[in-house]
Amino acid sequence: MSARHRWGEAERPTRFKTERQCVKCGLVKVTRHENTGGPGETHWTEFWRGLERIECEATPPCQPVEEAAHV
Ligand SMILES: [Zn+2]
Repeated sequence: MSARHRWGEAERPTRFKTERQCVKCGLVKVTRHENTGGPGETHWTEFWRGLERIECEATPPCQPVEEAAHV
């Protein structure tokens, strides 16, 4: 089975941050931008599930939480 996420619409709470949530498992992908257009321009990606940051090198697999929610 494919473990690809289905990202919803991007939200941009600030110009330094873009958030997308997977409609299947609720994982949030955050793209951060710092010093955009300036000398130390950097950007990186973080993954969050609820209030917990997921430490990973690649995108974590999509694990729909529907079943767990009924326990
Ligand atoms: Zn997902």
